[in-house]
Amino acid sequence: MPTSLINCWLLLGEALLYFGVMAVLFRLRHRTGLGLMFCALGVMHFLETYLASVFYVALPFGIISPGSTVLFSGKLVMLLLIYMREDAVTVRQPIYGLLAGNFLMVGLVLILRLHEVVGGAGRVPDIGFIDEMGWLMVWGTTLLYVDAIAIILLYEKLGQVLKGHLFARVALASCAVLTFDQIGFFAALHWITGAPVAVLFGGWFAKMAAALVFSALVVGYLRWFETVGSDTAPAINDVFDLLTYRERYHAALEQANRDGLTGLQHRGSFEKSGEAAVAEAQRTGRPLSLMVIDVDHFKAINDRRGHASGDQVLKTLAGLLTDCVGENGQVFRIGGEEFAILAPQGETVARLQAEMLRQHVAICTRNDPQPVTVSIGVASVSADTSDLLDLFSCADRRLYRAKAEGRDRVVAADPVEEAELPAQAQLRLA
Ligand code: GH3
Ligand code: MG
Ligand code: MG
Repeated sequence: MPTSLINCWLLLGEALLYFGVMAVLFRLRHRTGLGLMFCALGVMHFLETYLASVFYVALPFGIISPGSTVLFSGKLVMLLLIYMREDAVTVRQPIYGLLAGNFLMVGLVLILRLHEVVGGAGRVPDIGFIDEMGWLMVWGTTLLYVDAIAIILLYEKLGQVLKGHLFARVALASCAVLTFDQIGFFAALHWITGAPVAVLFGGWFAKMAAALVFSALVVGYLRWFETVGSDTAPAINDVFDLLTYRERYHAALEQANRDGLTGLQHRGSFEKSGEAAVAEAQRTGRPLSLMVIDVDHFKAINDRRGHASGDQVLKTLAGLLTDCVGENGQVFRIGGEEFAILAPQGETVARLQAEMLRQHVAICTRNDPQPVTVSIGVASVSADTSDLLDLFSCADRRLYRAKAEGRDRVVAADPVEEAELPAQAQLRLA
């Protein structure tokens, strides 16, 4: 077998060993913490730079160093893996740690060179080489800092078009960043060690191959060894937060707007969305209706079947309302057993929809141990509507009328009777 082919197999073996050990350390993080993996990355960082500076092997397409192909590409992909399964706060620990360690190395060498060295066992320390390594490592970790931000950003951006195609997402992000890195690192290598241009192209080709191998390994690892998602970490103010917390931030925001029991949007969102929707309807003249829905005799359900069953009824009801409304409106849980629906419809359609909802709830629960019925008050934005509070007062007055008239019904409009209950409705809104 030609030497260059043997080198390919050896590099593959190195990649597998590197990834295997790092993945085991990462997998053990819940038991041992991530310190083990970070230390291993740190040690490999030294070897990686040392190899990149002096250790080159021939491949069929050029000469490369296992340091910058296997070890550096592996490290970058491991950092992406940390981000994917942990968060930005965690991934920046090794990045800042490596940077600080390299600056420390350069600083120590400045003092070390002042020693009067006693030659031991016939060997003379090569301070110049350590110095060179130190600067190369500082440059390498500075590049790594940019690379890490770039690979995370790219990974997220690609998620918008390649959702579900994890391999393509990781591989494309790795290839793009490693290309950039190859150019940056070669420039320094060429300047410091005089590395020939063949190193640039050979290294680039090898890095692309490494990106593909490591991406496949990451995807395999995630598929077979990581099944549970991780928690969101607290915010810390630096570029990593701004760049990488977006996905989780939006998920947390979304979660924060939701009611824990039913998963519907809660009262706070109702007020925010409702105010915006009313203002929009007033501005554009488009129809908007509000339905306020209250479960009839819900206290009795709780009393007879227990609070947990009551909760279950609320969840079921939330599902029924959401299914029924579909794309034609937003459903909110605005209180204990009270729901609201904002729908882009005029009074007549909204009334019909409310009647449909009422019947749907009654029909779906008629065989339950305790059938559930609801009362609904409907109000629509008109020329007289001043704001959401106004619209809500109107729907709520009608809901009260529905209750007063015997429950399990919809009341949409009756100005004469509405005038009788303003004080009560205003009280409920306070
Ligand atoms: P009405 O027909 O007049 O609306 O009668 P009601 O019994 O439904 O009226 P009321 O508003 O007095 O009772 C609401 C009850 O809902 C009281 C409260 O204990 C219960 N409740 C509020 N939030 C929850 C919840 O999250 N889970 C459960 N199980 N019960 C809740
Ligand atoms: Mg109530
Ligand atoms: Mg009720």
